[in-house]
Amino acid sequence: MIGWVIKKILGTQNQREVKRLLPLVEEAKRQGEALRNLSIEQLRAKTPLFRERLAKGETLDQLLPEAFATVVALCRRLTEEKRKIRVRGQEMKWEMVPFDVQLIGGIVLHSGRIAEMATGEGKTLVATLPTYLNALAGKGVHVVTVNDYLAARDAEWMGEVYRELGLTVGCLQHGQTQAERRAQYACDITYGTCSEFGFDYLRDNGMATTPEDQVQRGHFFAIIDEVDSILIDEARTPLIISGPVTVSTHQFDKYKSVIDGLVRKQNGLCTDWANQAKAKGEAGDLPGAGRLLYRVKLGSPRNKLLLKFQEDPAMRRAIDDAELEMYQDTRRTELYKTKEEMYFSIDERNSEADLSEMGRTFLNPNDPNFFLVPDLITKNHDIETNRALSEEEKLKEKQVAQAEYEDASQRIHNISQLLRAYCVFEKDVHYVVQENKVMIVDEYTGRLMPGRRWSDGLHQAVEAKEGVQIDRETQTLATITIQNYFRLYEKLGGMTGTAETEANEFKDIYRLGVVVIPTNQPCVRVDADDMIFKTRREKLNALIEEIKKRNAVGQPMLVGTASVESSEIISRMLRRENIPHNVLNAKQHQQEAEIVTRAGERGAVTIATNMAGRGTDIKLSAGVAELGGLHVVGTERHESRRIDRQLRGRCARQGDPGSGQFFISFEDDLMRNFGDSRRIGGLMTKLGMEEDEGLQHPWLNRSVETAQKRVEGRNYQIRKHTLQYDDVMNQQRTVIYAWRTDILNSTDPRPEVFETVDERIAAEVEARAGTDPVDLDGLVRWANAAMPVGLSKEDLLGAGGKEEWTTFLKARVREAYEVKVKFENPEAVKALERFVVLGAIDRLWQEHLYAMDGLRTSINLRAYGQKDPLIEYKNEAYGMFGELMGRIKEEVVHNLFRSASSLSAFEHFLAALPQRTGRGELPGQDQPTEGSMSMGGGGGGSTVVEEALVPVKRQGPKLGRNDPCPIDPKKKFKNCCGATGSKGCLKVSA
Ligand code: ADP
Ligand code: MG
Repeated sequence: MIGWVIKKILGTQNQREVKRLLPLVEEAKRQGEALRNLSIEQLRAKTPLFRERLAKGETLDQLLPEAFATVVALCRRLTEEKRKIRVRGQEMKWEMVPFDVQLIGGIVLHSGRIAEMATGEGKTLVATLPTYLNALAGKGVHVVTVNDYLAARDAEWMGEVYRELGLTVGCLQHGQTQAERRAQYACDITYGTCSEFGFDYLRDNGMATTPEDQVQRGHFFAIIDEVDSILIDEARTPLIISGPVTVSTHQFDKYKSVIDGLVRKQNGLCTDWANQAKAKGEAGDLPGAGRLLYRVKLGSPRNKLLLKFQEDPAMRRAIDDAELEMYQDTRRTELYKTKEEMYFSIDERNSEADLSEMGRTFLNPNDPNFFLVPDLITKNHDIETNRALSEEEKLKEKQVAQAEYEDASQRIHNISQLLRAYCVFEKDVHYVVQENKVMIVDEYTGRLMPGRRWSDGLHQAVEAKEGVQIDRETQTLATITIQNYFRLYEKLGGMTGTAETEANEFKDIYRLGVVVIPTNQPCVRVDADDMIFKTRREKLNALIEEIKKRNAVGQPMLVGTASVESSEIISRMLRRENIPHNVLNAKQHQQEAEIVTRAGERGAVTIATNMAGRGTDIKLSAGVAELGGLHVVGTERHESRRIDRQLRGRCARQGDPGSGQFFISFEDDLMRNFGDSRRIGGLMTKLGMEEDEGLQHPWLNRSVETAQKRVEGRNYQIRKHTLQYDDVMNQQRTVIYAWRTDILNSTDPRPEVFETVDERIAAEVEARAGTDPVDLDGLVRWANAAMPVGLSKEDLLGAGGKEEWTTFLKARVREAYEVKVKFENPEAVKALERFVVLGAIDRLWQEHLYAMDGLRTSINLRAYGQKDPLIEYKNEAYGMFGELMGRIKEEVVHNLFRSASSLSAFEHFLAALPQRTGRGELPGQDQPTEGSMSMGGGGGGSTVVEEALVPVKRQGPKLGRNDPCPIDPKKKFKNCCGATGSKGCLKVSA
């Protein structure tokens, strides 16, 4: 009842919103009358006129009706002259003039919202309206598609409109060079996938070393096609550019063999229980059997016997009862006891694994506590209250405790990832092994995801399990979530057939409202109730019968599956029945698009995972409408209602007839993990379900949807969680990238460089003057170590207080720098200065990202300490960022004088210096003050540039490792300043 009321209100609110836009549509149509007789050339001449009006102060909103009308008029001209266009190698006739509902969609997109328009309503064309309008502003409009094929298709297809109106269109494709990419972005309109856009942003801001390396030109307006797929499904994995890590912390190979043994033991145990359960069941003791099987579920959720038992509704209910019983006890005494009777327990819903005392003893019989996180809080408390200890001893003991804690956490983390790898992640379902590599299978699309890796060591754990080469851990060089990438845009618009169920998330995270646009023709699709079966086998058999029946009369069918695996099973079954069919699994976008286009032909049977062919229109061939149009069969309900709606929506486009139905069973993952099988089981008995027979009832649909809502809620929480953590990083990234971009684009970087130097000097003077007595020696040592300023204590003693010292040092450092640059080519110096800052930012930022990864992993363990991990994370991240900024500045100061565009310039500089500075003083000898730990202290801080982690292009001469060292030419560079760990490192670069 309440649901109905809400729907009613939502419905009218949406209708009101649509109604509110109608006057604009009318206005556009009125303007269109005036353009009716214009030729294509005359329409094209409108573009510069619009631009002039914008320049004179008119707004895009004001131009909207006329600009939309121009696009409509052009489409009409193209249709009239039956314009032929080559799209992806095929000739197409242009025969579309936007409908009124399409104009409404265009207005919604322009207003920065999501237009929900059903499949086949012509969203591709809708996008041209706001794209043309906004491109007039000259700041570039990005149209985001789900794959490269669609980007190319739409750029060619819709490109006709833009080009005829005098605008340029570009298209990003994987594998394009920098120069090609820059050319695409330079266009008025750029089509591409979200990964291409996102990675370009990361490369531009995290890696480019010259402005010419940057390809994007700002983030003005993006229209995202299939917006739910991109902002919700894809957003679960962030974009990451990574390189190999320098130090490795994983111990998976070390623990693999013991875990092998542990899992085998546990499986033995579980199989015993399952057999006992069988005996109990046969003896009529159902509750007893249920209790035993629930144990098996805890210990080995994918145990074959267990899965078999779960096919029997009575047994399933018994298992659920056992679970319920344990959870009814708020103190969970029984549950914990049960968990202690096995080696470890697995929570499949949350993908978590927990060792028990038994498991810990098995792993390390001499010291079971080896695999237990020490209770740091109690320990610290004990140390604190121990009167026998001095303050200093207390501190030491606490540090020891902390170190032990971290070691143990690392160990336990390794073990629990291995257990997850063994017991939750299944080969050929979650991943495949190809060419000695573990490759993730996307659970939504069944598509392989080459290059992507599970994070947090899970990937290596799976590699260890499969016995393939464990890849070195990778380190993040640059990363951004899809959410944060799209938040960069001044304005976003989105379109999809299915946004409504996720409207809250769009609102909360992207501030995007959703407007549901009515269809052009009334939709006559028939959605049948789900057909529900006890077992997967029964379900599949019934499904094949259904396909046979409809195929016999020639009705085309689209069979949607949740995974590649089930596509293949169904395909095998159909082959046995000699029913010709096509199988798609989103691996070959273009080829699939061609097959899907024909899915509406008489007698066609097309099996597809749910992303396969998305974005391609399915038209009915002649005579098919009389057979009822395309029939869609879902072979499993998806975790998300949205994906199911998407599948249903593939038929009955533009007023065509069409129908759809889902076939589900109790053994489907969704039902196993989230279904309320007691309730459904009860319903089924009440409704009188027979063996080997499907059951259909609206009540059942509702139960399934309840399960889906439960998962949707959980998945939203996961995405939100990821985002909350990334928000912290996002703020930091914004600061760093802005700094980087400033330097990169300044024609004269020197003022910025000296600003940094000045800040460092001021901070150092402040710190040294702040001690009692004033640490003059330290200041002198620091200054001389960092910069060739030949400072003596007398210089300072004569100069007054800290203000004067700062001024004095600032002047000195400029003087020294003048000497240095005298020998250099001025342009080379600019490049060098830029490089000194960029080099410092990049190296330390990447180190910082690595440290943040570590923080992220360790912070979750602190949840044990009853602190809010997010708050802890924010605090620590804030502190670390402050340190990072200090270190970057310190490194800039250090490297400014330690870099040269050529060896000879550097030698000249050194020769010109000696009056005040001894050569021996160049190497940094002093420890910098706190907060500025750098050079040498910064872990690998002295690596030479040629060993840089980032594979970016460096220009200019490089100092070879076997060249004479410029500081001491008698030695080879690699043995002197170039030696790893050498503090007197010279960076010759540029
Ligand atoms: P969607 O992305 O909304 O699913 P598409 O953009 O793929 O739909 O378009 C579906 C089909 O509708 C295409 O074949 C297209 O040519 C056709 N179409 C779109 N708009 C019109 C129109 N205004 N008049 C005629 N055909 C149209
Ligand atoms: Mg589309």
